[in-house]
Amino acid sequence: MHTLKKMLYGNVAFLEGEEYRAFQFRFLCIVLLAGAGVTALLLIGVATAANHIDMRHVGSMTAFTILSLIVWLLLRGQPQRFITLAWVYETVCLLEYVSALYFVSEDEMRVIWFFTNIPGVYILLGQRPGMLITIATIIGLGAGNSSLPKPYSPHAIATLLAALAYFGAFFHVYGARSISYFVRMRESNRQLRHIASHDPLTDLLNAGAYYATCDQLIHLANRHQQHFSVLFVDLDHFKRINDTYGHEAGDIVLKAVTKQLQNSVRQSDAVGRIGGEEFSVFLPDTDLSGATKLAESMRSEIEKLMPQIGTQRIKVTASIGVASCERSEDSMAAIQRRADQAMYDAKQQGRNRVSCFTQTT
Ligand code: GH3
Ligand code: MG
Ligand code: MG
Repeated sequence: MHTLKKMLYGNVAFLEGEEYRAFQFRFLCIVLLAGAGVTALLLIGVATAANHIDMRHVGSMTAFTILSLIVWLLLRGQPQRFITLAWVYETVCLLEYVSALYFVSEDEMRVIWFFTNIPGVYILLGQRPGMLITIATIIGLGAGNSSLPKPYSPHAIATLLAALAYFGAFFHVYGARSISYFVRMRESNRQLRHIASHDPLTDLLNAGAYYATCDQLIHLANRHQQHFSVLFVDLDHFKRINDTYGHEAGDIVLKAVTKQLQNSVRQSDAVGRIGGEEFSVFLPDTDLSGATKLAESMRSEIEKLMPQIGTQRIKVTASIGVASCERSEDSMAAIQRRADQAMYDAKQQGRNRVSCFTQTT
């Protein structure tokens, strides 16, 4: 199954949230091959004298088959070419249908290809091009009918154009509804993923998501043989703040500290709220001395914060434990345990300080 997909679509990967793009890309790959397959069969019919058609249209069908295969080859593994190639394919299709209109007069049903084209245009090119091509088809068939070798009767052409308009309008409404449904689904999935991985009070990563992120960052660090460090930040006497000023005041402090932590770190670092008043910061590509410097500046910034509670500002301090990777196979659980130990050491030494993990800690 995997090999077949690779053969049809090439080496492609779509991001989460790009499901509709992935569907369009695969749809075009399949339509290109299916279209080329059908015309190739008709051409075999011509070669074996089972299918009698005008040689000029045989030329169009051959060109259509070859062009479809070329477009497919250009599209395989190259989703960024999708829009251009979708337009090229649509142009080739319309030329092929016009050729059938002029050169295969004995086939009264050939005009049906213009109908089958419409759903594909809406899927591949979207709403506006869909409407544009539907209107162009209606005008083209209406105006060009009299110049056909065997024009359709006025009744037939009126039915045809009305049906095309109806069909186009149907796909327009249906397409708009399904795309808006898809967009809303994608947005609500994104929100659900965010809720599942973030702490509602601070909007930081929750413990589960934070550790999962760290495991990935450790994997990357090991691959590039880089150091990494972890800071464990625990607010001092936080229970006292809650008891003295109330739980809401405690929440204000947690948010203020969060903002400060986020301002202190780089984009590539990860910050998680792993307990009530406990935060962990993962620092890729950072050794013990760099991590200790950052921890010290965080500690001092938190001390200076003095969040506003009602009419007064209160002093908040934190104890920070620092641990760095010692062996490349270090797991997050192991390094977090060492940062925990260092943090407890900071508490024991009197709080509002930074302590590094050493073997003797
Ligand atoms: P230490 O200096 O030893 O760390 O003392 P502490 O008071 O900070 O530590 P302790 O673990 O005893 O207290 C943590 C408190 O954090 C207890 C709990 O009520 C409070 N807490 C946990 N989650 C929240 C929260 O979401 N909001 C508020 N306001 N308080 C919280
Ligand atoms: Mg604690
Ligand atoms: Mg605490």
